[in-house]
Amino acid sequence: MAELLERVGKEFGLRSLKSLGHASEWVVDGELKNSYRGENFRSRVYGGWRKGTIDWREKERARMKNEKKAPGWQHDPLRGVEDTYVCPSYGGRAEHLADPREDKGLLSLDHSQPSVSVHWVTRGRDCRHPIRTAFYNDISNLVPMCKSCNSSKGGDAIDDYSVTSRFRGSGE
Ligand SMILES: [Zn+2]
Repeated sequence: MAELLERVGKEFGLRSLKSLGHASEWVVDGELKNSYRGENFRSRVYGGWRKGTIDWREKERARMKNEKKAPGWQHDPLRGVEDTYVCPSYGGRAEHLADPREDKGLLSLDHSQPSVSVHWVTRGRDCRHPIRTAFYNDISNLVPMCKSCNSSKGGDAIDDYSVTSRFRGSGE
């Protein structure tokens, strides 16, 4: 009903019907408030990582660390560095040993398909919070890789913060 009135308001340029408001306190004028955008978006709107997901990442790290023992890596200087692991190279580079002593070598998790930005426009902005957090922590859609590869993939920025009338934040 609110949506219909809002459309009527827009159609006829009636200011009072244009700004009926949204059922979610996270929304103003049909868009996410600023405090939920940018660097806060993944942690607040998608709820960030659950403990189970972090545990899984650590298990993956142990597995990837073990892979560096393969003979192919024996001449790589990083092989002798504790915590080094084999990064599967999704940043468009060849498979390589990642240096965990550097920030860019930290093990991160990448959302494969859909990415977060694709999920946001196809589903995330049209649903309740638990659906987004479940997507975000679905390990079947996550790929562990070094931070450097993850950021060089790029292209996952959110450029549209509009939401539908069904959008709800955490606890709403
Ligand atoms: Zn890498």
